[in-house]
Amino acid sequence: ELLSQHGHHDALGPKTTGQVAHEQAFSLEGRLALVTGGGSGIGLEIARCMTQAGATVIITGRREDVLKDAKQALGERAEYLVNDVCDLAGLDGLVAHIEATYGPLDVLVNNAGINMKKPALQVTDEEFARIINTNLNAVFALTRAAAQRMVARRQGVILMISSMAAYYGIDRVVAYAASKSAVEGMVKVLASEFSAHGVRVNAIAPGFIETEMSRTAMNADPDRKSRALRRTPMGSFGQPEDIGRAAAFLASDAARYITGASLPVDGGNSIGF
Ligand code: NDP
Repeated sequence: ELLSQHGHHDALGPKTTGQVAHEQAFSLEGRLALVTGGGSGIGLEIARCMTQAGATVIITGRREDVLKDAKQALGERAEYLVNDVCDLAGLDGLVAHIEATYGPLDVLVNNAGINMKKPALQVTDEEFARIINTNLNAVFALTRAAAQRMVARRQGVILMISSMAAYYGIDRVVAYAASKSAVEGMVKVLASEFSAHGVRVNAIAPGFIETEMSRTAMNADPDRKSRALRRTPMGSFGQPEDIGRAAAFLASDAARYITGASLPVDGGNSIGF
């Protein structure tokens, strides 16, 4: 009663009054999700976990062959669209197209991201801008396009894939760290603005996860692997699926009271270096 008087009742969704079965709370049955960069690495496993939880998942990326293989592996509940998130002006049209074709979008996962390891003094303006455009500007433009529609429907979940680089000073990732820290800031503002409108916004901060991106970085620096393992209390690297499970949970009604959070999934890295 008190909650509804303050207009916050709907934020918990339609299931506030009845008891929801435990398993049902984790289900994404009937939900539509968009996972950017969903053709490989972490994004592919987020898509897999969400389809396994019952969602229909649209994956995007720039390489059609990669997306085609991913769709094949994911099965009937997945579709792909070739899209470069750096084409900011096209992102509203992307969401409009998805909704016209598949129905209302329930979940947006801003996963697409790029990194580059270089000492700060060697980073050019062009390189800095390219990383900020992909990891930050595109995330805002796509989130705005999706959130406009979610807020109007009073239902939706937005997830950002952040990084340990947002929390700690990690050498040679100046633009990447700037982009991920900015995304963490954005999560808090958006979560606050949307909390009365039934839309939740959270980040996941992966630690060292074995993917193409991290393998390239590890291979470029032979010492890096042992240093990374020493900094990980659990003593091993994470798998993309570990991020997928967390994303599926945060997207589900089981997480209906979680907004504005950044969840480390990192084998303990964030306990401290
Ligand atoms: P990958 O390089 O394996 O995957 C990145 C995906 O993003 C690819 O599918 C790529 O597809 C897509 N992508 C890149 N640029 C664009 C673009 N302009 N438009 C559309 N899609 C794009 O990386 P990870 O899976 O490791 O990374 C996924 C996310 O997780 C990133 O945000 C990264 O910062 C974050 N992360 C990863 C960690 C790790 O240890 N691996 C640790 C912390 C955070 P395509 O090239 O075909 O466009």
